[in-house]
Amino acid sequence: MIKDSLARKAQKQLFKAAIEIKLDPNLLKILEKPMRVLKVSIPIKMDNGKTKVFTGFRCQYNNSKGPTKGGVRYHPEVTEDEIVALAAWMTWKCALLDLPYGGAKGGVICDPRKLSEGELERMTRRYTSEIMPILGPHIDIPAPDVYTTSKTMAWIMDTFSMMKGYTEPSIVTGKPEVLGGSKGRKEATGRGVAIITREFFKAKRKSLKGAKIAVQGFGNVGGYAALFLSRMGAKIVAASDVSGALINPDGLDISGLIECVEKHACIIKHPGKQIDREELLFQDVDVLIPAALENQIHRKNAHKIKAKVIFEGANGPTTPEADEILEKRRIPVIPDILANAGGVVVSHLEWVQALSGLFWEEEQVNTELEKKMVKSFKQVWDVATRRKVPFRCAAYLIAIERIAEVYRYRGIFP
Ligand code: NAD
Repeated sequence: MIKDSLARKAQKQLFKAAIEIKLDPNLLKILEKPMRVLKVSIPIKMDNGKTKVFTGFRCQYNNSKGPTKGGVRYHPEVTEDEIVALAAWMTWKCALLDLPYGGAKGGVICDPRKLSEGELERMTRRYTSEIMPILGPHIDIPAPDVYTTSKTMAWIMDTFSMMKGYTEPSIVTGKPEVLGGSKGRKEATGRGVAIITREFFKAKRKSLKGAKIAVQGFGNVGGYAALFLSRMGAKIVAASDVSGALINPDGLDISGLIECVEKHACIIKHPGKQIDREELLFQDVDVLIPAALENQIHRKNAHKIKAKVIFEGANGPTTPEADEILEKRRIPVIPDILANAGGVVVSHLEWVQALSGLFWEEEQVNTELEKKMVKSFKQVWDVATRRKVPFRCAAYLIAIERIAEVYRYRGIFP
């Protein structure tokens, strides 16, 4: 996988939109750089009695619209560069969805599958205490991302609360419901991907019934996207995770796959025809949903994609070079900052609930999610159609313009 200078790639996407909206070059100077990046050492006593020192990051990219918001990722290939890019994308995503947030991202370089539960807990708690000076429910609010879960969020919340001396549920989102988590948060990103797919088909006056879909990364986002899309009548014909890929032209048994992942933490224990993991991307399908990691579709494989449209469940799965190839091949890419925004939309609702101490039924959460996603899709679709630009560019135009407007009022301190 190509992982170098993801932040540079994120900048390129920003520059493209900046030219299109004739953004004030002085503002571009601000937006092309992260506001703050903290790098921390995390010493942990391992189960074998030895000490291991992990490295972690937290980037707060821009807070002009409100407290920064973004997930925490545990992965052996985490880099500062990747975290900065992910924090930039969170900034544009929050602006596009018109949430009162800036963007952030955090990560720890580790392989969580090789750590015991106790080691993971100690690492999470020490990471939290190291980034504590820049955390707060009105400063920066973490959430789950790759290989972090509601349990990780519970540890962050407890550590923050213990250090402050009072319980602060609004310091994280994606936490268990019993700690003030929101109903519907776990499913929200996948549900959002499904809503955006449905709206795209509607706008194209096509039916989702029987549409063939391949999902790369059957985790939280990919698994729920597959579930909701199959309920809408689509056929999930291929799915993969880090363990391998399964294919069935008649449609995979999605509930069975979800159960398999819950039980064995991988999909290939489920019976079915296996294909090479990389081959999943090149299936002859109507829809491809990359929902694993960034840089999966790049200049060396973009010409092999056969899908008619791509919905980015993951953050940054398509490189700018691949974007250009796909544009020439007339394969639309519905960008991450729109397609996977369901998670941060419900995170916002969770934060509002925790701050107010009033908790909503799932129906109310899902209704709000639906409204936000549909409205944002329409805005992106309209700009893309009117200005004849790709969907990513249209989404960036809306997001950057909103941030620019904030700067026009707030100015630059001092
Ligand atoms: P997850 O850990 O639940 O799932 C990731 C999945 O990808 C796992 O099934 C893993 O096995 C699989 N995977 C990893 N490498 C792979 C590869 N090379 N090929 C195929 N599969 C591979 O993580 P998640 O929360 O679902 O996040 C997935 C992506 O979605 C990330 O880019 C994340 O930033 C983004 N995202 C997540 C949320 C959220 O709410 N969880 C919100 C917005 C965006």
